[in-house]
Amino acid sequence: MNTDLQDYSHKRLNILTGEWVLVSPHRAKRPWQGQNEAVSNENRPTYDENCYLCPGNTRVNGEVNPEYEDVFIFTNDFAALQSDSPDFEVNDGLLIAKSEKGICKVICFSPDHSKSLADMTPEEIQKVVFAWQKEYKELGDNDLINYVQIFENKGAVMGCSNPHPHGQIWSQSTLPNEVDKKNTQQLNYFKKNGSSLLGDYLAQELEKSERIIFENDAFVVLIPFWAIWPFEAMIVPKAHQSNILELNDEEAFLYAEAISVLTKAYDKIFNTSFPYSSGIHQAPTNGEDNGHWHWHMSFYPPLLRSATVKKFMVGYEMFGSPQRDITAEKAAQMIRDLV
Ligand SMILES: [Zn+2]
Repeated sequence: MNTDLQDYSHKRLNILTGEWVLVSPHRAKRPWQGQNEAVSNENRPTYDENCYLCPGNTRVNGEVNPEYEDVFIFTNDFAALQSDSPDFEVNDGLLIAKSEKGICKVICFSPDHSKSLADMTPEEIQKVVFAWQKEYKELGDNDLINYVQIFENKGAVMGCSNPHPHGQIWSQSTLPNEVDKKNTQQLNYFKKNGSSLLGDYLAQELEKSERIIFENDAFVVLIPFWAIWPFEAMIVPKAHQSNILELNDEEAFLYAEAISVLTKAYDKIFNTSFPYSSGIHQAPTNGEDNGHWHWHMSFYPPLLRSATVKKFMVGYEMFGSPQRDITAEKAAQMIRDLV
């Protein structure tokens, strides 16, 4: 390991976005000021009559949820994007805008109100993966849709208003900013080297073995070299696959296992139901050759020092660039010890 990276401030390049993160490892040597208290997870009931996601309950628009047994998907009653909005464009000098259409869905991971992915078995999570595959295919086949964003906001600290285990799928006509950056970076690398950016990165990470948390036959869970959030992690398929449809059933299970291992370890870090935003970045569904894409899932957890102390992206991070104290290598070691 390059010890300079553990001792002195430096910038690390995010090869997927082309952006830099400032790392200040000397600051992590400050005495531990946070509390290490054990925060008990609220004891949630398996069914909540006031939850609009629980089976059999009525949603705000009057629709009644079926008595679903594993995964349940419906179109978001308060969608940020709609498929029937009008087309328009604003080109008024420097005032530029364009209409955007899309379809937003909600996916309940389990009928059990009390569970999170960390409490579910890999077999149960595999059903979620199958549902993601089905939605990516169906939405992607829609002429209106050129990109499908699958994500989850977990925990009140992430702005998640309902503890029922669920995620979202927002699909739209154009590529969102983060996807657009990754598309460009991967395409440029693929053109120049004739190989997958993330595939080559993974090979280097496996050889160094400094930031690996877990691996099975098909997946690697690691802290990316350029991680911003203290315990940011990424799940990457070993095979060069551009989207999740390329997973066979066995690989879908191994993917579910990787999610299970990571989320379970997360819950042990501060002895709390670990909040995060997670999302899958994969090839656009624009009908183009997207062979340069190597799909992956990222987890961005906000917690820093305890179940109650979170990292804020303020000050320098708003005006300059993201910054972290604890190095990716230290974070990987901490989580690896909990797997
Ligand atoms: Zn519920």
